[in-house]
Amino acid sequence: MNGGLGIYIHVPFCNRTCWYCDFYSVAPNGKMMQDYVDAICDELIFYQNTGKVVESIYFGGGTPNLLDFRQIAKIIRALSETFEVSCDAEITVEMNPELVSEEMAYDLLMVGVNRASVGVQSFSDADLKFLKRRHLARVARDSVGIVAKQGFPDVSIDLILGLPSQTREQFERTAASARELGVSHISGYLLKVGDKAKFDYSETVELLPEEDEVCDNYENFVSVMNVHGFKQYEISNFAANGRKSVHNLKYWRCEEYIGLGVAAHSYLGGVRYHIIKDVDAYIHNIKGASQYLKELKGMLPPYLEGGKLKKEGSQKLYHIDDCDPFVEYVMLGLRLTAGLDIRKLAEIDGGKCRKFLSALGKRKWFSDFVVRDGDKVHLTLRGFLVSNRVIAELLS
Ligand code: SF4
Repeated sequence: MNGGLGIYIHVPFCNRTCWYCDFYSVAPNGKMMQDYVDAICDELIFYQNTGKVVESIYFGGGTPNLLDFRQIAKIIRALSETFEVSCDAEITVEMNPELVSEEMAYDLLMVGVNRASVGVQSFSDADLKFLKRRHLARVARDSVGIVAKQGFPDVSIDLILGLPSQTREQFERTAASARELGVSHISGYLLKVGDKAKFDYSETVELLPEEDEVCDNYENFVSVMNVHGFKQYEISNFAANGRKSVHNLKYWRCEEYIGLGVAAHSYLGGVRYHIIKDVDAYIHNIKGASQYLKELKGMLPPYLEGGKLKKEGSQKLYHIDDCDPFVEYVMLGLRLTAGLDIRKLAEIDGGKCRKFLSALGKRKWFSDFVVRDGDKVHLTLRGFLVSNRVIAELLS
């Protein structure tokens, strides 16, 4: 819990909305994107003089590589003027494969980005067709090849699991391609279909495999990745040669991070809060709020009181989230294969820790899903598949 700060920048622009996605996104337009970048830089006024060292910067979306490299550079520069950014900070940009070019990759490298996270989704045309993605498997492979060849020290790919007719052999081919292309990190997420999509695309949703098949699919994926040297370190994340995501580890280890931009979440000074989901209102309100906050020149949390911002104005921007440090440490820590540290649990709340350990000892069926190993508690592979239920029982 004592690591440096992570910074997340949300880029909410998408050329089109994917049918299964419930994330907030808007169609890009030049003026709005420039105003948005300016607003992100203005938002940093809230965080002057924190004395924090930034260890990771993550541009996520949406589609961050819809931004021009000069806009990304402007935000990185504004961050460097606000915080001490560690010289070896991990700087990631998520990329849509359709938009990847040699020039784009080169420009991003030149402005300091050192980790490319390419949303390939799959190296199979059948999967991409089912997902109604515009790019072909060939484009996915080419985009990863381009960023690796341009010299990104870290190349991560996102894959979607739990699709009809995915097989172990397919995962073998995917892992081999990833190795060949120089990928150092893989995220494999089970397809999550939003409620709206279930209604609007019910015929497509009906084609999805049953729960048992999805479990087999996940187990096969984990086993294949481990065999090919992508070692699992979190429910959905796998790293070659120890190249874990510095930024994402901050979330799972309950370390501090600041989210900038619409719908971004932050955890700072023991407070969790998030920003409104409305680009126009965000741009408009940041302008107003930054005017009076310029005079305060301080970090945001001191202005939070009783779940509300003390000052009139920023209430339109931020919402405070409930935060129980014990529950969060359990829920996030158990996502990691390394599990959670009982000593840390006891430090957070000794009474709750004793109750947690007693719950763990009492239920015999737990042993298939969760294991205590000295001072550590971690989920098994089967436990990862039912993590929500196991964690709910442990905390009940
Ligand atoms: S899946 Fe990604 S690219 Fe598609 S709409 Fe959602 S955020 Fe945009």
